[in-house]
Amino acid sequence: MAITISALKEAPGENRVALSPDVVRKLVKSEYQVLIEKDAGQQAFYQDSAYTDAGAQVVDRKTAIEKASLIATIDQPGDDVVDHLQAGQTLLGLLAPLTDLEFVKKLAAKKVNAMAFELLPRTVSRAQTMDVLSSQASVAGYKAALLAADKFTRYFPMMITAAGTAKPTKVLVLGTGVAGLQAIGTAKRLGAMVSGYDIRPASRGEVESLGATFLTTSVSATGEGGYARALTPEETAQQQKELAGFIAENDVIITTAQVPGRRPPLLVTQDSVDNAKPGTVFIDLAASELGGNVAGSKADDTVTTPNGAQIIAAGDMASQLPASASDMFAKNVQAVINDVTKDGELVFDVDDEVVGELLATYQGEIISSRVRSAMKLPDRHPAKAEDAADEAQPDAADDSSEKSKTKGAD
Ligand code: NAD
Repeated sequence: MAITISALKEAPGENRVALSPDVVRKLVKSEYQVLIEKDAGQQAFYQDSAYTDAGAQVVDRKTAIEKASLIATIDQPGDDVVDHLQAGQTLLGLLAPLTDLEFVKKLAAKKVNAMAFELLPRTVSRAQTMDVLSSQASVAGYKAALLAADKFTRYFPMMITAAGTAKPTKVLVLGTGVAGLQAIGTAKRLGAMVSGYDIRPASRGEVESLGATFLTTSVSATGEGGYARALTPEETAQQQKELAGFIAENDVIITTAQVPGRRPPLLVTQDSVDNAKPGTVFIDLAASELGGNVAGSKADDTVTTPNGAQIIAAGDMASQLPASASDMFAKNVQAVINDVTKDGELVFDVDDEVVGELLATYQGEIISSRVRSAMKLPDRHPAKAEDAADEAQPDAADDSSEKSKTKGAD
Protein backbone atom coordinates (compact mmCIF):
# COMPACT_ATOMS: atom_id res chain seq x y z
CA MET A 1 0.00 0.00 0.00
CA ALA A 2 1.25 3.50 -0.85
CA ILE A 3 2.57 5.80 1.85
CA THR A 4 0.03 8.57 2.42
CA ILE A 5 1.37 12.07 2.98
CA SER A 6 -0.94 14.92 3.93
CA ALA A 7 -0.82 18.67 4.47
CA LEU A 8 -3.36 20.63 6.46
CA LYS A 9 -4.64 24.17 6.35
CA GLU A 10 -2.55 26.05 8.91
CA ALA A 11 -3.98 28.19 11.72
CA PRO A 12 -5.21 31.72 10.86
CA GLY A 13 -2.26 34.12 10.49
CA GLU A 14 0.01 31.48 8.97
CA ASN A 15 0.04 31.95 5.21
CA ARG A 16 2.40 29.14 4.31
CA VAL A 17 1.50 25.56 3.42
CA ALA A 18 3.77 22.57 3.99
CA LEU A 19 3.37 21.00 0.51
CA SER A 20 3.49 22.88 -2.79
CA PRO A 21 1.87 21.59 -6.00
CA ASP A 22 5.34 21.12 -7.48
CA VAL A 23 6.47 18.84 -4.65
CA VAL A 24 3.12 17.01 -4.71
CA ARG A 25 3.71 16.21 -8.38
CA LYS A 26 7.10 14.72 -7.53
CA LEU A 27 5.74 12.72 -4.61
CA VAL A 28 2.89 11.33 -6.69
CA LYS A 29 5.37 10.40 -9.43
CA SER A 30 7.31 8.48 -6.79
CA GLU A 31 4.09 6.62 -5.88
CA TYR A 32 3.14 8.36 -2.64
CA GLN A 33 -0.52 9.09 -2.14
CA VAL A 34 -1.03 12.78 -1.25
CA LEU A 35 -3.98 14.30 0.59
CA ILE A 36 -4.38 18.06 0.83
CA GLU A 37 -6.94 19.65 3.12
CA LYS A 38 -9.36 21.83 1.18
CA ASP A 39 -8.07 25.43 0.89
CA ALA A 40 -4.73 24.53 2.51
CA GLY A 41 -2.76 26.55 -0.05
CA GLN A 42 -5.18 29.45 -0.36
CA GLN A 43 -3.02 32.05 1.43
CA ALA A 44 -0.03 31.20 -0.78
CA PHE A 45 -2.29 31.39 -3.85
CA TYR A 46 -2.05 27.67 -4.44
CA GLN A 47 -5.57 26.71 -5.45
CA ASP A 48 -7.05 23.29 -4.73
CA SER A 49 -7.12 22.71 -8.50
CA ALA A 50 -3.31 23.09 -8.67
CA TYR A 51 -3.01 20.24 -6.17
CA THR A 52 -5.50 18.01 -7.95
CA ASP A 53 -3.70 18.71 -11.25
CA ALA A 54 -0.51 17.58 -9.53
CA GLY A 55 -2.16 14.30 -8.55
CA ALA A 56 -3.26 14.95 -4.95
CA GLN A 57 -6.70 14.36 -3.55
CA VAL A 58 -8.28 17.42 -1.92
CA VAL A 59 -10.13 16.24 1.17
CA ASP A 60 -11.71 17.49 4.39
CA ARG A 61 -9.58 18.08 7.48
CA LYS A 62 -10.69 14.92 9.27
CA THR A 63 -9.71 12.72 6.32
CA ALA A 64 -6.36 14.49 5.88
CA ILE A 65 -5.56 13.81 9.54
CA GLU A 66 -6.89 10.28 9.88
CA LYS A 67 -5.71 8.73 6.64
CA ALA A 68 -2.14 10.06 6.69
CA SER A 69 0.97 8.02 7.41
CA LEU A 70 2.84 11.33 7.66
CA ILE A 71 1.34 14.78 8.18
CA ALA A 72 3.53 17.68 7.06
CA THR A 73 2.81 20.90 8.88
CA ILE A 74 4.42 24.33 9.06
CA ASP A 75 3.69 25.13 12.71
CA GLN A 76 2.85 23.05 15.76
CA PRO A 77 -0.74 21.88 15.25
CA GLY A 78 -3.46 22.46 17.85
CA ASP A 79 -5.43 19.95 19.91
CA ASP A 80 -8.01 19.61 17.14
CA VAL A 81 -5.30 17.77 15.18
CA VAL A 82 -3.27 16.14 17.95
CA ASP A 83 -6.31 14.63 19.67
CA HIS A 84 -7.14 12.74 16.47
CA LEU A 85 -3.66 11.37 15.80
CA GLN A 86 -3.16 7.65 16.18
CA ALA A 87 -0.19 5.59 17.31
CA GLY A 88 2.24 5.04 14.43
CA GLN A 89 1.39 8.21 12.53
CA THR A 90 4.20 10.70 11.92
CA LEU A 91 4.09 14.46 12.30
CA LEU A 92 6.77 16.54 10.53
CA GLY A 93 7.14 20.30 10.95
CA LEU A 94 8.28 23.17 13.16
CA LEU A 95 6.99 21.66 16.40
CA ALA A 96 8.77 23.84 19.01
CA PRO A 97 10.23 20.72 20.67
CA LEU A 98 12.74 22.60 22.84
CA THR A 99 10.40 25.29 24.11
CA ASP A 100 7.22 23.20 24.49
CA LEU A 101 8.25 19.99 26.19
CA GLU A 102 4.65 19.23 27.21
CA PHE A 103 3.69 19.01 23.54
CA VAL A 104 6.47 16.49 22.93
CA LYS A 105 5.39 14.44 25.96
CA LYS A 106 1.83 14.42 24.67
CA LEU A 107 2.92 13.02 21.30
CA ALA A 108 5.14 10.45 22.99
CA ALA A 109 2.22 9.33 25.16
CA LYS A 110 0.12 8.85 22.02
CA LYS A 111 3.02 6.99 20.32
CA VAL A 112 2.94 9.51 17.48
CA ASN A 113 6.35 9.89 15.81
CA ALA A 114 7.32 13.55 15.87
CA MET A 115 10.00 14.92 13.54
CA ALA A 116 10.82 18.52 14.40
CA PHE A 117 12.82 20.60 11.94
CA GLU A 118 14.27 22.66 14.80
CA LEU A 119 16.25 19.54 15.81
CA LEU A 120 17.96 18.96 12.47
CA PRO A 121 21.75 18.69 12.80
CA ARG A 122 22.32 21.43 10.22
CA THR A 123 26.04 21.03 9.78
CA VAL A 124 25.73 17.42 8.52
CA SER A 125 25.92 17.77 4.74
CA ARG A 126 23.18 15.17 4.06
CA ALA A 127 20.79 17.30 6.16
CA GLN A 128 21.18 20.48 4.16
CA THR A 129 18.33 19.80 1.75
CA MET A 130 16.09 19.32 4.81
CA ASP A 131 17.08 22.57 6.51
CA VAL A 132 13.84 24.43 7.09
CA LEU A 133 15.47 26.83 9.57
CA SER A 134 17.82 28.04 6.84
CA SER A 135 15.28 28.13 4.03
CA GLN A 136 12.75 30.07 6.08
CA ALA A 137 15.36 32.37 7.66
CA SER A 138 16.57 33.28 4.21
CA VAL A 139 13.06 34.27 3.13
CA ALA A 140 12.58 36.17 6.40
CA GLY A 141 15.80 38.16 6.02
CA TYR A 142 14.90 39.21 2.50
CA LYS A 143 11.39 40.27 3.47
CA ALA A 144 12.68 42.13 6.56
CA ALA A 145 14.89 44.36 4.40
CA LEU A 146 11.97 45.07 2.06
CA LEU A 147 9.70 45.88 5.00
CA ALA A 148 12.34 48.24 6.41
CA ALA A 149 12.66 50.02 3.06
CA ASP A 150 8.90 50.32 2.90
CA LYS A 151 8.50 51.69 6.43
CA PHE A 152 11.48 54.05 6.47
CA THR A 153 10.61 57.59 5.43
CA ARG A 154 13.61 58.12 3.12
CA TYR A 155 15.22 56.53 0.06
CA PHE A 156 17.53 53.57 0.74
CA PRO A 157 20.01 54.42 -2.07
CA MET A 158 21.91 57.62 -2.62
CA MET A 159 19.94 59.64 -5.18
CA ILE A 160 21.49 62.41 -7.19
CA THR A 161 18.74 64.42 -8.83
CA ALA A 162 18.19 67.94 -10.17
CA ALA A 163 16.32 68.62 -6.94
CA GLY A 164 19.32 67.68 -4.81
CA THR A 165 21.14 64.66 -3.44
CA ALA A 166 19.63 62.19 -0.99
CA LYS A 167 22.08 60.45 1.34
CA PRO A 168 21.86 56.66 1.51
CA THR A 169 20.07 55.09 4.47
CA LYS A 170 22.28 53.49 7.11
CA VAL A 171 21.16 49.96 7.90
CA LEU A 172 22.56 47.93 10.80
CA VAL A 173 21.89 44.19 10.98
CA LEU A 174 22.38 42.64 14.42
CA GLY A 175 22.87 38.88 14.21
CA THR A 176 24.39 37.76 10.92
CA GLY A 177 23.32 34.13 10.59
CA VAL A 178 21.22 33.03 7.62
CA ALA A 179 18.49 35.68 8.02
CA GLY A 180 20.91 38.49 8.81
CA LEU A 181 23.10 37.79 5.79
CA GLN A 182 20.08 37.72 3.50
CA ALA A 183 18.87 41.03 5.02
CA ILE A 184 22.32 42.52 4.42
CA GLY A 185 22.42 41.33 0.80
CA THR A 186 18.92 42.67 0.12
CA ALA A 187 19.55 46.05 1.79
CA LYS A 188 22.80 46.36 -0.19
CA ARG A 189 20.97 45.66 -3.44
CA LEU A 190 18.52 48.39 -2.50
CA GLY A 191 21.46 50.77 -2.22
CA ALA A 192 21.70 51.28 1.55
CA MET A 193 24.96 51.68 3.51
CA VAL A 194 24.99 48.45 5.48
CA SER A 195 26.86 47.17 8.50
CA GLY A 196 26.49 43.86 10.31
CA TYR A 197 27.30 42.60 13.78
CA ASP A 198 27.44 39.19 15.43
CA ILE A 199 29.07 37.73 18.51
CA ARG A 200 30.46 34.89 16.40
CA PRO A 201 33.69 36.33 15.01
CA ALA A 202 33.49 33.74 12.19
CA SER A 203 30.70 35.73 10.59
CA ARG A 204 33.00 38.69 9.82
CA GLY A 205 34.14 37.18 6.50
CA GLU A 206 30.56 36.45 5.41
CA VAL A 207 29.43 40.00 6.18
CA GLU A 208 32.40 41.55 4.44
CA SER A 209 31.98 39.33 1.38
CA LEU A 210 28.58 40.99 0.88
CA GLY A 211 30.23 44.41 0.81
CA ALA A 212 29.01 45.41 4.27
CA THR A 213 31.07 46.64 7.22
CA PHE A 214 31.49 44.27 10.18
CA LEU A 215 31.22 45.91 13.59
CA THR A 216 32.94 44.38 16.59
CA THR A 217 32.44 44.62 20.32
CA SER A 218 34.65 43.23 23.05
CA VAL A 219 32.19 40.33 23.54
CA SER A 220 32.60 37.20 21.46
CA ALA A 221 30.74 33.96 22.08
CA THR A 222 30.83 30.98 19.75
CA GLY A 223 28.86 28.01 21.04
CA GLU A 224 28.29 24.45 19.82
CA GLY A 225 27.45 23.42 16.24
CA GLY A 226 28.31 26.85 14.78
CA TYR A 227 25.68 28.61 16.92
CA ALA A 228 26.20 31.42 19.37
CA ARG A 229 26.15 30.59 23.07
CA ALA A 230 24.06 32.52 25.59
CA LEU A 231 25.95 35.42 27.18
CA THR A 232 26.50 35.87 30.90
CA PRO A 233 24.66 38.85 32.48
CA GLU A 234 27.98 40.75 32.59
CA GLU A 235 28.69 40.08 28.90
CA THR A 236 25.12 41.09 28.01
CA ALA A 237 25.47 44.42 29.81
CA GLN A 238 28.84 45.06 28.15
CA GLN A 239 27.47 44.20 24.71
CA GLN A 240 24.38 46.39 25.14
CA LYS A 241 26.58 49.31 26.19
CA GLU A 242 28.87 48.95 23.20
CA LEU A 243 26.02 48.48 20.72
CA ALA A 244 24.20 51.62 21.94
CA GLY A 245 26.57 53.91 20.00
CA PHE A 246 26.13 51.97 16.74
CA ILE A 247 22.34 51.92 17.11
CA ALA A 248 22.14 55.70 17.62
CA GLU A 249 24.07 56.29 14.36
CA ASN A 250 21.84 54.13 12.13
CA ASP A 251 18.44 54.71 10.51
CA VAL A 252 17.25 51.12 10.25
CA ILE A 253 18.13 48.33 12.66
CA ILE A 254 17.21 44.76 11.68
CA THR A 255 17.69 42.26 14.51
CA THR A 256 17.84 38.48 14.04
CA ALA A 257 19.76 37.19 17.09
CA GLN A 258 18.72 33.80 18.44
CA VAL A 259 20.23 31.22 20.74
CA PRO A 260 18.65 27.78 20.17
CA GLY A 261 16.00 26.82 22.73
CA ARG A 262 16.31 30.05 24.69
CA ARG A 263 14.67 33.42 24.95
CA PRO A 264 16.22 35.72 22.26
CA PRO A 265 18.95 37.99 23.70
CA LEU A 266 18.07 41.64 24.33
CA LEU A 267 20.44 43.62 22.10
CA VAL A 268 18.62 46.95 21.97
CA THR A 269 17.84 48.26 25.46
CA GLN A 270 15.13 50.74 26.37
CA ASP A 271 17.85 53.42 26.59
CA SER A 272 18.95 52.63 23.03
CA VAL A 273 15.34 52.86 21.84
CA ASP A 274 14.92 56.18 23.66
CA ASN A 275 18.11 57.54 22.08
CA ALA A 276 17.26 56.44 18.53
CA LYS A 277 16.89 59.12 15.89
CA PRO A 278 13.28 60.12 15.08
CA GLY A 279 12.07 57.94 12.24
CA THR A 280 14.38 55.03 13.10
CA VAL A 281 12.87 51.71 12.06
CA PHE A 282 13.58 48.63 14.17
CA ILE A 283 12.64 45.32 12.55
CA ASP A 284 12.78 42.61 15.22
CA LEU A 285 12.87 39.23 13.50
CA ALA A 286 13.42 37.46 16.80
CA ALA A 287 10.16 38.80 18.25
CA SER A 288 7.79 36.18 19.61
CA GLU A 289 5.77 35.53 22.73
CA LEU A 290 9.14 34.73 24.38
CA GLY A 291 10.31 38.32 23.79
CA GLY A 292 12.58 39.82 21.16
CA ASN A 293 15.93 41.53 20.55
CA VAL A 294 14.47 45.03 20.97
CA ALA A 295 13.11 46.41 24.25
CA GLY A 296 9.39 47.02 23.96
CA SER A 297 8.81 44.93 20.85
CA LYS A 298 5.38 43.33 21.05
CA ALA A 299 4.73 40.07 19.18
CA ASP A 300 2.73 40.62 15.97
CA ASP A 301 2.55 44.36 16.58
CA THR A 302 4.16 47.70 15.68
CA VAL A 303 4.98 50.14 18.47
CA THR A 304 5.68 53.81 17.76
CA THR A 305 7.79 55.28 20.57
CA PRO A 306 7.44 58.84 21.97
CA ASN A 307 10.69 59.83 20.19
CA GLY A 308 9.28 58.70 16.84
CA ALA A 309 10.94 55.33 16.33
CA GLN A 310 8.97 52.37 15.03
CA ILE A 311 9.53 48.92 16.54
CA ILE A 312 8.10 46.31 14.21
CA ALA A 313 7.81 42.79 15.61
CA ALA A 314 8.54 40.69 12.55
CA GLY A 315 8.59 37.10 13.74
CA ASP A 316 6.32 36.10 10.85
CA MET A 317 8.36 37.36 7.90
CA ALA A 318 8.53 33.99 6.14
CA SER A 319 4.75 33.79 6.30
CA GLN A 320 4.61 37.21 4.62
CA LEU A 321 6.25 35.78 1.48
CA PRO A 322 4.14 32.64 1.53
CA ALA A 323 4.61 31.22 -1.95
CA SER A 324 8.42 31.32 -1.94
CA ALA A 325 8.57 30.21 1.69
CA SER A 326 6.15 27.31 1.04
CA ASP A 327 8.06 26.20 -2.07
CA MET A 328 11.26 25.88 -0.07
CA PHE A 329 9.58 24.38 2.99
CA ALA A 330 7.93 21.76 0.79
CA LYS A 331 11.27 20.83 -0.78
CA ASN A 332 12.73 20.38 2.70
CA VAL A 333 9.74 18.17 3.59
CA GLN A 334 10.27 16.12 0.43
CA ALA A 335 13.94 15.62 1.29
CA VAL A 336 13.01 14.20 4.71
CA ILE A 337 10.35 11.93 3.22
CA ASN A 338 12.81 10.61 0.64
CA ASP A 339 15.38 10.03 3.34
CA VAL A 340 13.10 7.91 5.53
CA THR A 341 11.49 5.90 2.72
CA LYS A 342 12.92 2.41 2.26
CA ASP A 343 11.28 -0.09 -0.11
CA GLY A 344 7.94 1.73 -0.10
CA GLU A 345 7.74 2.15 3.68
CA LEU A 346 8.61 4.85 6.18
CA VAL A 347 11.58 3.52 8.15
CA PHE A 348 13.06 5.52 11.03
CA ASP A 349 16.60 4.65 12.04
CA VAL A 350 16.80 6.15 15.51
CA ASP A 351 20.57 5.67 15.53
CA ASP A 352 21.11 7.63 12.32
CA GLU A 353 22.93 10.95 12.89
CA VAL A 354 20.24 12.93 11.04
CA VAL A 355 17.00 10.99 11.55
CA GLY A 356 17.79 10.17 15.19
CA GLU A 357 18.19 13.87 15.97
CA LEU A 358 15.18 15.00 13.93
CA LEU A 359 12.96 12.56 15.83
CA ALA A 360 11.67 14.16 19.01
CA THR A 361 9.63 10.99 19.65
CA TYR A 362 9.47 7.54 18.13
CA GLN A 363 7.15 4.75 19.26
CA GLY A 364 6.59 6.50 22.57
CA GLU A 365 10.26 7.15 23.34
CA ILE A 366 12.03 10.52 23.40
CA ILE A 367 14.83 10.13 20.86
CA SER A 368 16.54 13.48 20.11
CA SER A 369 19.53 14.07 22.36
CA ARG A 370 18.66 17.76 22.60
CA VAL A 371 15.10 17.09 23.74
CA ARG A 372 16.32 14.41 26.17
CA SER A 373 18.77 16.87 27.63
CA ALA A 374 16.05 19.57 27.90
CA MET A 375 13.88 17.01 29.74
CA LYS A 376 16.85 16.00 31.90
CA LEU A 377 16.61 12.40 30.66
CA PRO A 378 19.76 10.25 30.53
CA ASP A 379 21.65 9.80 27.24
CA ARG A 380 20.12 7.07 25.05
CA HIS A 381 23.61 5.82 24.30
CA PRO A 382 25.49 5.72 27.60
CA ALA A 383 27.53 2.88 26.10
CA LYS A 384 28.81 5.23 23.37
CA ALA A 385 30.02 7.71 25.96
CA GLU A 386 31.82 4.88 27.74
CA ASP A 387 33.28 3.72 24.41
CA ALA A 388 34.65 7.18 23.76
CA ALA A 389 36.28 7.14 27.16
CA ASP A 390 37.63 3.63 26.54
CA GLU A 391 39.10 4.66 23.18
CA ALA A 392 41.51 6.80 25.11
CA GLN A 393 42.82 3.54 26.65
CA PRO A 394 44.25 1.36 23.81
CA ASP A 395 43.85 -1.92 25.76
CA ALA A 396 40.11 -1.51 26.10
CA ALA A 397 39.45 -0.26 22.55
CA ASP A 398 38.87 -3.58 20.74
CA ASP A 399 36.44 -4.76 23.34
CA SER A 400 34.34 -1.63 23.30
CA SER A 401 34.04 -1.41 19.48
CA GLU A 402 32.72 -4.96 19.51
CA LYS A 403 30.12 -3.91 22.07
CA SER A 404 28.92 -1.02 19.88
CA LYS A 405 28.65 -3.29 16.79
CA THR A 406 26.43 -5.71 18.68
CA LYS A 407 24.29 -2.84 19.85
CA GLY A 408 23.97 -1.53 16.25
CA ALA A 409 22.88 -4.98 15.07
CA ASP A 410 20.17 -5.08 17.73
P1 NAD B 1 20.27 31.74 14.59
O1 NAD B 1 18.97 32.01 13.92
O2 NAD B 1 20.33 30.74 15.67
O3 NAD B 1 20.81 33.14 15.17
C1 NAD B 1 20.99 34.24 14.32
C2 NAD B 1 22.31 34.90 14.60
O4 NAD B 1 22.26 35.54 15.86
C3 NAD B 1 23.50 33.94 14.66
O5 NAD B 1 24.45 34.32 13.69
C4 NAD B 1 24.03 34.12 16.08
O6 NAD B 1 25.43 34.03 16.14
C5 NAD B 1 23.55 35.50 16.41
N1 NAD B 1 23.50 35.83 17.84
C6 NAD B 1 23.05 35.08 18.87
N2 NAD B 1 23.17 35.76 20.03
C7 NAD B 1 23.70 36.96 19.71
C8 NAD B 1 24.06 38.10 20.47
N3 NAD B 1 23.92 38.14 21.80
N4 NAD B 1 24.58 39.15 19.81
C9 NAD B 1 24.76 39.13 18.48
N5 NAD B 1 24.43 38.10 17.69
C10 NAD B 1 23.91 37.02 18.32
O7 NAD B 1 21.41 31.44 13.54
P2 NAD B 1 21.31 30.72 12.14
O8 NAD B 1 21.03 31.70 11.09
O9 NAD B 1 20.37 29.60 12.29
O10 NAD B 1 22.79 30.23 11.93
C11 NAD B 1 23.58 29.78 13.03
C12 NAD B 1 24.87 29.23 12.55
O11 NAD B 1 24.67 28.02 11.88
C13 NAD B 1 25.65 30.11 11.61
O12 NAD B 1 27.00 29.92 11.89
C14 NAD B 1 25.37 29.54 10.27
O13 NAD B 1 26.36 29.83 9.32
C15 NAD B 1 25.36 28.09 10.65
N6 NAD B 1 24.64 27.30 9.68
C16 NAD B 1 25.34 26.30 9.09
C17 NAD B 1 24.71 25.53 8.16
C18 NAD B 1 25.45 24.44 7.49
O14 NAD B 1 26.55 24.15 7.86
N7 NAD B 1 24.85 23.85 6.53
C19 NAD B 1 23.39 25.75 7.83
C20 NAD B 1 22.70 26.77 8.47
C21 NAD B 1 23.36 27.54 9.40
